[in-house]
Amino acid sequence: MAMKLDLTGLLNGTESELTVKESLAADFTDDEVYVEGPIGVDMTFFKAGDLVIGKGRLNATIRQSCSRCLNEVFQPVTVEIFEQFKKENPASAGNGEIELGEEDFVFPLDGDGWLDLKELVRQNLVLNLPEKVLCRKDCPGIKSDITRKKKIDPRLEKLKEAL
Ligand SMILES: [Zn+2]
Repeated sequence: MAMKLDLTGLLNGTESELTVKESLAADFTDDEVYVEGPIGVDMTFFKAGDLVIGKGRLNATIRQSCSRCLNEVFQPVTVEIFEQFKKENPASAGNGEIELGEEDFVFPLDGDGWLDLKELVRQNLVLNLPEKVLCRKDCPGIKSDITRKKKIDPRLEKLKEAL
């Protein structure tokens, strides 16, 4: 599927709503999140003032390690998304000033009004990773088959006792 979503129609008012139902290939190149199989994206975008609102959900199967035994665990997750999007303003970009406010929660679109859908999906998955996963509730942890027994010379023991 297209990784970039054209939101220009919503931004300039020629479209009122955009519905996205896609299956996104999970070929993330970073190692923050491992996804098994495709990611289901079900989102609706609409215009609100000079912003575009996107809401919906993602479905994915996350591959993580069991917190106790480190075995692989496949964890299905559903992430509810509510994001605001705005075109990056070239005038305000790069002036070095940090303004805290509503803007911080706005997902930037590139200058043409295109949304990087894959990046949106990636960020939402990373933020919603299950913190602790277990392969099963009563996972006993790492099992070791190694048992070490020291052979103790009884004569040596006797000697120790005597000292
Ligand atoms: Zn385990």
